[in-house]
Amino acid sequence: MLIQEDHDLLQLEGVNTSFFLDSSVLRAVDNVSFEIRKGEIFGLVGESGSGKTMTALSIMRLVPPPGRIVDGKIIFEGRDLALLPVKEMEGVRGGRIGMIFQEPMSSLNPVFRVGDQIGEILSAHTNLTNKEIRDKSLQLLKQVGFDEPNQRYVQYPHQLSGGQRQRILIAIAIACNPSLVIADEPTTALDVATEGQILSLLRELVTGYRMSMLFITHNLHIIKGLGTRVGIMYAGRMLEQNRVADFFKEPLHPYSVGLLDSVVRLKGDEKRLKAIPGAVPRLSELPQGCKFHPRCSKVMAICRGDEPPMFAVGDDQWVRCYLYRN
Ligand code: SF4
Repeated sequence: MLIQEDHDLLQLEGVNTSFFLDSSVLRAVDNVSFEIRKGEIFGLVGESGSGKTMTALSIMRLVPPPGRIVDGKIIFEGRDLALLPVKEMEGVRGGRIGMIFQEPMSSLNPVFRVGDQIGEILSAHTNLTNKEIRDKSLQLLKQVGFDEPNQRYVQYPHQLSGGQRQRILIAIAIACNPSLVIADEPTTALDVATEGQILSLLRELVTGYRMSMLFITHNLHIIKGLGTRVGIMYAGRMLEQNRVADFFKEPLHPYSVGLLDSVVRLKGDEKRLKAIPGAVPRLSELPQGCKFHPRCSKVMAICRGDEPPMFAVGDDQWVRCYLYRN
């Protein structure tokens, strides 16, 4: 039985999300379990197609057809989101869970003033009067770093820079004081300087407002400066869960080691980055056994048989690899 501990805000247990195609069923999220604790930033890292965004969409119950959650529990504030009636789920989405996506331009409506777009979420999820909604929207604009909220309120998305638009999305995401914010690659479309500002803002908001955050990225460097714990996804599976500090000191899974080697310059004279050989497999062509075995330099006979389970290595450290069998 799933027991949600006091310090857990969100707990996924054995979540499976599949896409039902004419000739096959693809498991985009395969038996994924992890928890997000109160006040922490959990980084979900993986390459494109690893299942990290689909995991977030499963939590939000926004998996597009022909996909659907087929199994597992998503316990959030004591309720299983996987079973929640549609109406109640609408209250959770945007209310208790805020969302920030990668491309702010496509998430904002180009024909409405940004202040009104913040007000819209408040009007959908609260009983505030029109005046209170406007006041709260101005306050949110200030909270996300705009010095002249009155001027910003009346602007349209195209009048703002990419970083400013992302701040508006953050204001919308936190408008109803959510306990969890899901940020999916929120800085990918931004330049490095703006990325730094947005990450600082997110960090301040999590600390200042005691929110938790699921931060999805393909960029390990971001998690190093931001996250508390990290989960590494590959082919729809969680391969490793670790504390951020331990992960960067000593990653456990051979795939994690490869990921770090491919982004960190090697010590000494050698400046070449090591790429992981091979490519991420398609979900329709997954190998038997460990899904990473065709690319793994440590592969053993057992790896080609049954898929390894998650092995507990230490406190808060889990890895899906036979090298860690007891
Ligand atoms: S289970 Fe085997 S193939 Fe898979 S990562 Fe571990 S050592 Fe490599």
